[in-house]
Amino acid sequence: MSSDASPRKFKLHVMAQEAREHAGLADVAQLPRLRADLDLSGPPVQPIAWQVMVQWRERAGGEPELWLHLRANAQLPLTCQRCLTPVVQTLAVDRWFRFVESEDVAQAQDDDCEEDLLVFEPQFDLLSLLEDELLMELPLVPMHETCPDLPALGQESPLADPSGERPHPFAALASLKGKGR
Ligand SMILES: [Zn+2]
Repeated sequence: MSSDASPRKFKLHVMAQEAREHAGLADVAQLPRLRADLDLSGPPVQPIAWQVMVQWRERAGGEPELWLHLRANAQLPLTCQRCLTPVVQTLAVDRWFRFVESEDVAQAQDDDCEEDLLVFEPQFDLLSLLEDELLMELPLVPMHETCPDLPALGQESPLADPSGERPHPFAALASLKGKGR
């Protein structure tokens, strides 16, 4: 843990020389794009724990490369798409990035490498990267495994049953049988 590095102005070269992990907590109030997607009607959102490591990597026949490892864990309330109440989703980020000198280089190399590329900035905005990564991890359709207030919905509702029409012929048959007696 350290407080000597502002996560908005991460000095990448200094971090790489230190070659140690930095960690901190980010409040969702600091991440407005992410906050906009959250369901804030429940209990307060827990701060997001992050860890970052910056390192130089030697490369055969070339300049050393600057890499960044970002890890984060978040418990974020989203709106359940079935019952429309908050559902807390656990999101984990664990990703390596390689810095390149410009956007042009990033675009030229992006198709040829598996790692994610970032454009080098002497004072790097780590929280913005964290926010981008968490936004990508958000589920498209957040849902409770079992919704708290509507446990039977989806199983009992005839609207949700794709075979909902099938009972009718038998029901009709049963009523015919009843008439024949
Ligand atoms: Zn639900």
